[in-house]
Amino acid sequence: MKNNKSYFRKNIDEMDGYTPGEQPRDMKYVKLNTNENPYPPSPAVMKALKSLDAGRLRLYPDPLACELRKTIADIFGLKSESIIVGNGSDDILTITTRAFAGEKDSIACFEPSYSLYPVLAELQGCRCIKIPLGYDGDFYIPSDSAKKANGAKLFYIARPNAPTGTLFPIGEIRKICRNFKGIVFVDEAYADFADDNCVGLLEEFPNLIVGRTMSKSYSLAGLRLGFALASGKIIEGMMKVKDSYNVGMPVQVLATAALKDRKYFNETREKICRTRRYLVKSLLEKGFEVCGSQSNFVFAAPPDKDGEGVYRRLKKNGVLVRYFKGPVTGRYVRITVGTDKEIRILLRNI
Ligand code: PMP
Repeated sequence: MKNNKSYFRKNIDEMDGYTPGEQPRDMKYVKLNTNENPYPPSPAVMKALKSLDAGRLRLYPDPLACELRKTIADIFGLKSESIIVGNGSDDILTITTRAFAGEKDSIACFEPSYSLYPVLAELQGCRCIKIPLGYDGDFYIPSDSAKKANGAKLFYIARPNAPTGTLFPIGEIRKICRNFKGIVFVDEAYADFADDNCVGLLEEFPNLIVGRTMSKSYSLAGLRLGFALASGKIIEGMMKVKDSYNVGMPVQVLATAALKDRKYFNETREKICRTRRYLVKSLLEKGFEVCGSQSNFVFAAPPDKDGEGVYRRLKKNGVLVRYFKGPVTGRYVRITVGTDKEIRILLRNI
């Protein structure tokens, strides 16, 4: 029997869904399009993987991920009660959206920023207040942002921003936390590659949540582990929203091992920051305009401002970067900082 009736909620029928970066299977590319880390995870992760007790898979994992949360808490000088972990930071963003914004409420975010934020609003049946970033050759937070966002329950701010790499001044974030009436979620997916972060603001602002991921600076995108830091009261509420067992036992064990290896973490992120400086310098020498980047990617516009042209040319030559359509973003490509060797191949073909 033919039946054209849709069983979905109206907002699901009407939305497109999030488009992740290409994960090609057709050929081997120099893959600089999804901000993965080019270095392997810490050897401590490999060791923990080999000694995993498969027999324990019979049992549910620790729903409170006690050891993992304690390890994170120690690194940031916080209490475990201030930490929630999730299946990647995308899970943390979903938990946050569900916890703070109901149907018909609003969520605010900047544009351009991480394109998942408006999708989360659509999923929830929320309105999304998109606040255009100021642009003067680089991107900046407009001075009246908190006012424009007010009325929203939640304000998503990526810092460093994606896809631009911008580290907005911490004073701007402080101003938003002070003047915005709802929850401010500072998404610090890339903060390990930056000069500073907003963790220190948590003491000051009860409406602040800071999000982190192990996908970039810990080379663990395939593991799926993200976390958020906030007051005990905020985390307690978010714990009610998460799936009981949202982080599996192997993930808890391997993430804990990676976090404990501070030496490897510091060495890797320093290597990436060094290569970033080399990439920026080389692009500037080629006449590109490069946004100030404090992350593991660089947003760069060629002299003819044809970002799509650069993307296509590189792809034809086996190098994948990311291109974002749009009047301003379309001038640029976003290039993940790979190894020095990968960046040399990119520079030869750009
Ligand atoms: N936040 C930002 C700003 C990102 O760019 C990404 C990566 N796409 C994420 C969060 C999600 O990262 P993950 O789910 O791998 O932790």
